[in-house]
Amino acid sequence: MPFSAADMTDETPYTYTRWGNPTIRRLECTLASLESGEAAVCFASGMAAISGLYHTLLAPGDHMIIADVCYPGALELARSVLEPKGVSISHVDTSEPELVRQALRPETKLVYIETPCNPILRIADIRAIAQIARAAGALLAVDATFASPAVTRPLELGADLVLHSLSKYLGGHGDTLGGAIIGKRQVVEPIRRAGVIHLGGVMSPFSAWLIIRGLATLTLRMAAHSESSLIVARFLEDHPKVLKVLHPGLASHPQHELAAGQMAQFSGMLSFQTENPMQVARNMAERLRVFHYAVSLGHHRSLIFHVPTADLQRTSLRLDDAGLARYRDWAGDGVFRTSVGLEDAGDLCRDLEKALE
Ligand SMILES: *Cc1c(COP(=O)(O)O)cnc(C)c1O
Repeated sequence: MPFSAADMTDETPYTYTRWGNPTIRRLECTLASLESGEAAVCFASGMAAISGLYHTLLAPGDHMIIADVCYPGALELARSVLEPKGVSISHVDTSEPELVRQALRPETKLVYIETPCNPILRIADIRAIAQIARAAGALLAVDATFASPAVTRPLELGADLVLHSLSKYLGGHGDTLGGAIIGKRQVVEPIRRAGVIHLGGVMSPFSAWLIIRGLATLTLRMAAHSESSLIVARFLEDHPKVLKVLHPGLASHPQHELAAGQMAQFSGMLSFQTENPMQVARNMAERLRVFHYAVSLGHHRSLIFHVPTADLQRTSLRLDDAGLARYRDWAGDGVFRTSVGLEDAGDLCRDLEKALE
């Protein structure tokens, strides 16, 4: 029996859940096979997975390239924890692989991207960025929470690591939290040691059980999310009060072809702009009956929430002038981030129609 995580092997029996647990291990095996990965490690939340990743792969003096638009927690954690520790960070528009190449330095250890990205559904070209990162000796990590492995499998496209918030599509029911990192065993196991065993971000086995149950319907759910979100996106595109709709499956999405090349279907996320968004947001909170006016995504229930550009810029993005101009090309003053659930698509369109009157 080992007394330290340093002596643990695959043969070490289950003695204590932070070191290893059969229910969590069962989920890890399923996730590894869904993503065509060698190994997977689960965490208490998506943010615990991101913390474990940063902590394990980046030391003082190292450099990380991070997508300038992605999940706010990933940006805020990088600024609040990595930078003070002496890790330098470049915020890059990763929808342009060439900008990733230009940002590389000899000390770049990690390229961190998210596709499709929160909240504007901009796409990053995983194949192109994987080649650029590999040539420079840096690892590429892809947060594919918005896609799920039923839509995109980043490891098959050349990424080194894929991350998920299991709280979203993989759990699928909005009733638990979890995170995961999947990739080569030699990269994943040190992340387990640091992030789970030492930093303590261990998943609850009950959450693992709920997520295993959710995964049983992943294929069916993602097909339904993908089909309904396109119906809702087309309905919104035709609506006179809607200024713009962002959905990677629409021909009007600026990267529709790239999306079609790396997404098997287009998932359930879309964002849209309207006139008078603050009034529309109030109307939504009062009038929506099928959608829930609430944050989060990937649940069986449809969720919608307004993300004002000025607020997101102040708290999280902190883009330079050029980056903010690019963000505003997609989002204007703000977007209604929409997670299309498993309800009838016609009911969802009628619900939005009432809120937009
Ligand atoms: C929700 C989310 C996270 C964080 O996951 P938690 O489980 O809430 O900690 C990270 N990335 C993306 C894209 C997310 O949507």
